[in-house]
Amino acid sequence: MSSTALPTTEDLRARARAGLARLDVTVEEGSDFAARSPITGEDLFGLRAATAADTEKAIADARAAFLTWRTTPAPRRGELVRRLGELLRDHKNDLADLITIEAGKIRSEALGEVQEMIDICDFAVGLSRQLYGRTIASERPGHRLAETWHPLGVVGVISAFNFPAAVWSWNTAVALVCGDTVVWKPSELTSLIALACDRLLARAAEEVGAPREVHRLLLGDRGVGEALVDDPRVALVSATGSTRMGREVGPRVAARFGRSLLELGGNNAAVVAPSADLDLAVQGIVFAAAGTAGQRCTTLRRLIVHRDIADTLLARLTAAYQKLPIGDPFDETTLVGPLISPRALATMQDALTRVQAEGGKILAGGNRRLTDEAPRASYVEPVLVRVDEQTEVVREETFAPLLYVLTYDTLDEAIALHNDVPQGLSSSIFTRDQQEAELFLSAEGSDCGIANVNIGTSGAEIGGAFGGEKETGGGRESGSDAWRAYMRSATNTINYSSRLALAQNVSFL
Ligand code: NAD
Repeated sequence: MSSTALPTTEDLRARARAGLARLDVTVEEGSDFAARSPITGEDLFGLRAATAADTEKAIADARAAFLTWRTTPAPRRGELVRRLGELLRDHKNDLADLITIEAGKIRSEALGEVQEMIDICDFAVGLSRQLYGRTIASERPGHRLAETWHPLGVVGVISAFNFPAAVWSWNTAVALVCGDTVVWKPSELTSLIALACDRLLARAAEEVGAPREVHRLLLGDRGVGEALVDDPRVALVSATGSTRMGREVGPRVAARFGRSLLELGGNNAAVVAPSADLDLAVQGIVFAAAGTAGQRCTTLRRLIVHRDIADTLLARLTAAYQKLPIGDPFDETTLVGPLISPRALATMQDALTRVQAEGGKILAGGNRRLTDEAPRASYVEPVLVRVDEQTEVVREETFAPLLYVLTYDTLDEAIALHNDVPQGLSSSIFTRDQQEAELFLSAEGSDCGIANVNIGTSGAEIGGAFGGEKETGGGRESGSDAWRAYMRSATNTINYSSRLALAQNVSFL
């Protein structure tokens, strides 16, 4: 099934320009690289990339702004984020348009991404009055032992194309209330939405009287990111992207004793037990595996189904896959938009060739679509592949709508298969058996940072901490106590007696 005709590149360019004008963004056009839309696969505008001098100035300005921002009371810092949240509400449609144009997200998911930005702003405003430290019982009479939290410094945010705005907001809203300043290097594939976010934050800063330099934007490719990674003035590098990127960034930041927060690839699985509610499971699986055209870090990539229900579930999934409307993400009936690039399509096709050579059987999907209408774009049917074993290709993250299906006989076997991949981001189990659900969530269950019951692997709320283990990088962002990564703690011992008592009863003098 395909939805209606695609917009032309000229339509998309005009729509982007109109939205940017309403957002009061001036695009500095250039010839270093291009803003492109995966809807047609064609360029929209040429852009100028940040130079080494721009990067140096941005970091220096953010560092200087930090020195005043860190002493601004946290609830007043929250005022800036509150205003940003209001501006995001006012411009929700224009921001969602840019996300659809540059990342290819369907309308409802693009609006959802802006909603996520609004939600994290609300969360961060509340947090600005809750940056709590603990008081600890001291072993010494007349002493108080306490923990205080202080701003950290400049946070370098490097973000991926697939959540081009939300990942920035998770980092930036929290970093700003924590008293940090931010230098942002967005994905080179999503510069227009980055310009829009930066402009709204600048407006919020002007309106509440905060220094404009609390946030700096640097457009460009990984070279710009590398400058942030290597600069000792950048106290924390929060990098979201592929495991390949994290493997390069992590050691470089560590070599200068900087802090890094890594949010990398996932290879997320769902276990479907015999007692599962299959209506719920089918809905949860199809959204998690085919939604966002399989381009979420939390996308469902492996399905581990109990042998007794495999045929029934797969028949239902195959039928659902065959009906997925693929096409223009602006069309309200479309559920699957384009892949980000021809390279992403080639990577998916390569994985399909490999898995078939290993005996994998395609149950549904896999054909390219809309090749006449948009030869440079990469539309593809989400694929369901049945495999007998968890081979190398199944253990890799292929960033596309490609779902591998494995079967199991015992839950122990399912959990072992589930955990036997290098990544550890998101996971879920569909079951009505409480013992099974609790085992899956326990220390001997899923080894992921996110473990769900009767819901798919994707679509996290901002209230919880977000991130994963193993090659996913170990970072936590967004809600809960993830804010601590953006601050430094100090332990304070205060002696209010007139006697110097040493800890552990040590006597001296
Ligand atoms: P990518 O790794 O190609 O690029 C991500 C960002 O890193 C871009 O801004 C890029 O310019 C920059 N970069 C790349 N190499 C760098 C280097 N050596 N030094 C500094 N910066 C560098 O990723 P992508 O294709 O944009 O995004 C898809 C990937 O991101 C997937 O693997 C997905 O799972 C992952 N992702 C993870 C999360 C998460 O929270 N765990 C969220 C979103 C996306």
